[in-house]
Amino acid sequence: MGKILVLDHHTIDQIAAGEVVERPSSVIKELIENAMDAKATAITVEIKNGGVLYMRVTDNGIGISKEDMEVAFLRHATSKLHDIDDLNDLTSMGFRGEALASISAVSKMECISKTADSLLGYRYEIEGGVPSELEEVGAPSGTTMIVRNLFYNVPARRKFLKSETTEGNYIQEMLEHLAMARPDISFTFINNGKTKISTAGNKDLGEIIYRIYGRETSKECFSFQKEEEGISISGVLGAPTMNKSTRSSENFFVNKRYVKNSLISKAIEEGYHGYTMMHKFPFCVIHIDIDPSAVDVNVHPQKTEIRLRDGERVYEIIKKIIHGTLAEREMIPNCTIDQEKQVKEEIPVQPEPFEQVRREVESPVNSSTFTEFEINFEEDTKTAFHIEEVKPGEDTKILSHKEEHPHQNIIKEKESVIIEKPTQISFFPELKTVLSKEARKQYEIIGQLFNTYWIITYHDQVYFIDQHAAHEKVNYERLIKKMKENAVVTQQLAPPLILSLSTKEIMIVEKHMEAFTSLGFEIDLFGGNEIALRAVPMEVYFMNEKEMFLEVLQELSEKPVAGDLHVVTYQIATMACKASVKGGKKMSLQEIDALIDELLDCENPYHCPHGRPTMFSMSKYELEKKFKRVVE
Ligand code: ADP
Ligand code: MG
Repeated sequence: MGKILVLDHHTIDQIAAGEVVERPSSVIKELIENAMDAKATAITVEIKNGGVLYMRVTDNGIGISKEDMEVAFLRHATSKLHDIDDLNDLTSMGFRGEALASISAVSKMECISKTADSLLGYRYEIEGGVPSELEEVGAPSGTTMIVRNLFYNVPARRKFLKSETTEGNYIQEMLEHLAMARPDISFTFINNGKTKISTAGNKDLGEIIYRIYGRETSKECFSFQKEEEGISISGVLGAPTMNKSTRSSENFFVNKRYVKNSLISKAIEEGYHGYTMMHKFPFCVIHIDIDPSAVDVNVHPQKTEIRLRDGERVYEIIKKIIHGTLAEREMIPNCTIDQEKQVKEEIPVQPEPFEQVRREVESPVNSSTFTEFEINFEEDTKTAFHIEEVKPGEDTKILSHKEEHPHQNIIKEKESVIIEKPTQISFFPELKTVLSKEARKQYEIIGQLFNTYWIITYHDQVYFIDQHAAHEKVNYERLIKKMKENAVVTQQLAPPLILSLSTKEIMIVEKHMEAFTSLGFEIDLFGGNEIALRAVPMEVYFMNEKEMFLEVLQELSEKPVAGDLHVVTYQIATMACKASVKGGKKMSLQEIDALIDELLDCENPYHCPHGRPTMFSMSKYELEKKFKRVVE
């Protein structure tokens, strides 16, 4: 072993920096958290080259006073925590007091800030931890932090960064989450000169989803807000037809923080159960507000993982609220013949945070026209500016203070006008209408197509119902309901069906005997490869029982089901119902009439147990368009 050395401050800072600053996105995260703690209502993030060369975060918050400026960059300097008791205060985003110290140890950093009660702002530069003198500058209230050349003095760390595009994408993704977490804050994200995200900060989550995910997605979402046992759950649910193949579109926020938590994911998926296709995941943006003392956020250094006290109760409430919300809606996908051309809409540029006057006048959704300008924070330029009084509708001028300060004349000014068409964000499903008892009387059943689909009209809408999917659903819901009530009705088979099975099939029957029995199957095992099927549930009785049962066994051997009894039972019920209605059969008008009646009684009439839709609709208008009777 070598001689023991006490590390100098510089080295300690660089090592400590590694814990806070892993990559450009972690810098941005810390700077934004500071801006939010400073009560900013508008935050602009600009990056160049994936953030590695240039990052800027500008806010309109309370600012940093002259006295605090240098102190703020010292390690363990924080205005948010005075003693250990304050640690329990979770309202602040971060309280370690080391972000600025850490970032400035591994970059060239610049801070311009002005508090509301000070006439002048101050500019402070710190390079690799070495500070410059404070300078007076003209600046709007708020803070701008600029970080250049990240890890210029720690090449080992720089080597670990991914490509500029990937680093830029990390930042964008984080900003998307932040924008959804805080609809009350206006976020702007500019990457290499292009505005990528711009939200109004008008508390409208729908608007943010529209900005981030586009028109198509936001059209298929609806908002909701519910509360139960002190837990408030609100946000936007995507229509189940927007099936996703991964969990990445399940966005949820606990007490305004984007978090990951498998229990909550599971609760959401269970809430969607029966609506989404199997093995698919929903799109949603959900805010869960809960007593902060029931949430442990300090599980993970980045605070993205949380632990819930009383998780089981939270799980049940989330699941129930989501399920209930979906059940209230009409989930019939509406079909347009001409798929709408996807128009990539340009994101209107939001004014910079410090343009408070204009910000209050416009929101990108409701406004029709607005003026926009940009300040170019050029690299290697020192910035200082102030804004003349701005009146709505007037052009805004930026004046630079050339007189007293040496480097304040380099701000470029650009003016342009964006005309934005007013956009209507329409949320997809309405409250149940067609599938209500009142509407039922006004249906006109037109007939059956291809022995499979029923056509029904109601008002100006034509509905196509998949007879098999509908049948499956009706039987399934009935069977599950009776099972839950311990009231399954079985149909005895006389004489019992003797079936010869393979060894694998015998094993499956043995393994799932309890599930079969709870659904109303009566099966005798003889010890060899033969079994006797003595009874089946009423709901699956009317077709060929032998074929139905063998098909269930075949499905179980191809796709083994695992999990607790509850899960297995539901899956077997799904398979049995599917197997029992297979094959095209011409139904009479009376039969379809009865089936529709039963469908109306279903909790979720819109999807078969496998998640396929039971029906879709098309409007008269859509047909008229097709026949060119109406001009769009
Ligand atoms: P912490 O956020 O844990 O207190 P930081 O190093 O991130 O530590 O910041 C140090 C201090 O600098 C903060 O406590 C705050 O007083 C001040 N500060 C940093 N960023 C801003 C900002 N954007 N607006 C106002 N004050 C800020
Ligand atoms: Mg901080």
